[in-house]
Amino acid sequence: MTEIPRHDVIILGAGLVGCALALALAKGGVTSILVDPADPQAIRAATNDGRASAVSSSTWRMFDALGLEPAFAPHASPIERIEVGEQGARGLLAFQPDLANDGPLGMMVENRTLRMGLRDAAAAAEGVTLLMPATPQTVERDADGVRITLADGRRIAGALLVGAEGRRSPTREAARIAVARWEYRHVAIVGMLDHSEDHRNVAHELFYTAGPFALLPMQGGHRSALVWTVAEADAPAMLTLSPRAFLAEADKRMKGMLGTLSLAGPLSSYPLGFHHAAHITDERLALVGDAAHGIHPIAGQGVNLGFRDAAALAEVLIEGVRLGLDPGDAQLLQRYERWRGLDTFSVAAATDGLTRLFGVPGRAASRVRRLGIGIVERVPALKDFFMAEARGESGALPRLLSGQAI
Ligand SMILES: Cc1cc2nc3c(=O)[nH]c(=O)nc-3n(C[C@H](O)[C@H](O)[C@H](O)COP(=O)(O)OP(=O)(O)OC[C@H]3O[C@@H](n4cnc5c(N)ncnc54)[C@H](O)[C@@H]3O)c2cc1C
Repeated sequence: MTEIPRHDVIILGAGLVGCALALALAKGGVTSILVDPADPQAIRAATNDGRASAVSSSTWRMFDALGLEPAFAPHASPIERIEVGEQGARGLLAFQPDLANDGPLGMMVENRTLRMGLRDAAAAAEGVTLLMPATPQTVERDADGVRITLADGRRIAGALLVGAEGRRSPTREAARIAVARWEYRHVAIVGMLDHSEDHRNVAHELFYTAGPFALLPMQGGHRSALVWTVAEADAPAMLTLSPRAFLAEADKRMKGMLGTLSLAGPLSSYPLGFHHAAHITDERLALVGDAAHGIHPIAGQGVNLGFRDAAALAEVLIEGVRLGLDPGDAQLLQRYERWRGLDTFSVAAATDGLTRLFGVPGRAASRVRRLGIGIVERVPALKDFFMAEARGESGALPRLLSGQAI
């Protein structure tokens, strides 16, 4: 049996958040092993994950601090303004940052670009051992440390186990951590739309009772990422529409605002749900990203929350190791739990409330929503609050999210 030298941290899941964590740890001299059963070549396929992510400006600063910005910048489009509409009425509320002083609200990047960039950087980083494809078979975790045997017989060991395997995290299940979860009975239809008019770096969030319809500006001016939330029961029919019929339905929501439309690639669909782990640490264990929480994509915050987990956990561990503590030390894990527990819960609760508020049918509910939108539009302090949320700048920020090294 091959014995791989002991590392400080074992991260199960080399997705967006797992790779970001490994890179952040490496910058502070904390070693890690990343384990993922997926085929590394599959993420390069053009058909892999047709989604794009709204990367908040604070996450973007973390990319800069981790040396990733040059890999992503050529493929990214800034979000310079967000316009909100309701039931066909457009421009009811607009978020317009001071671009010269504060920069854009975030950047749109295809998930495939993010996955490849993060994975390649992790593979090349000193102090990171990437085992992919590799499947964990047995996992032992106790006061002495973490020991894992992989399906191919190799054995790895470390001081701390991190579950970063996404929403169905086997690590979270094995630790018997309770999870609050519910399904929205909605499906997100996701794809890329080309349009004849320039989007001018504006993101549109159009709320309809059937679900929000979001258009996010992609690079080049004439392409937007579509995230169209529809009732679960309607999704199969929507996905079998001819491209022409689908575009006609989309245009009914957009009312010609971006000119003539065409599909830039295949559509995909994702069932939407909410989940939140009751706690994110256990003996020599921490959860990050979707393994810890999953929210509706209405506010484009899911992976940003995960990156915040990675930045906070890296800061806690690096500082602890510098003080001579073991990376699996219970006090360090408690600090991570306290730091992230409240932030993720408040963003999750706000997103869930928004999803429900904008899903209530009827004219009375619509009037209440417009009243709320009107108030936010007229009160600068409220607008600034929402813009800080979109930028991922609220709460106690880990240093990496301010663009500083740990
Ligand atoms: C339609 C839609 C649109 C979205 N848009 C946005 C957006 O605009 N902005 C935003 O911030 N977020 C968005 N999100 C959320 C975002 O996609 C997720 O939060 C993000 O992918 C979570 O990253 P992760 O690394 O935690 O998990 P994942 O990306 O799911 O990665 C998990 C990794 O773990 C691996 N794995 C699985 N099982 C095991 C195992 N047993 N052992 C080891 N590894 C394993 C997998 O192969 C994978 O590589 C959206 C989500 C949806 C559904």
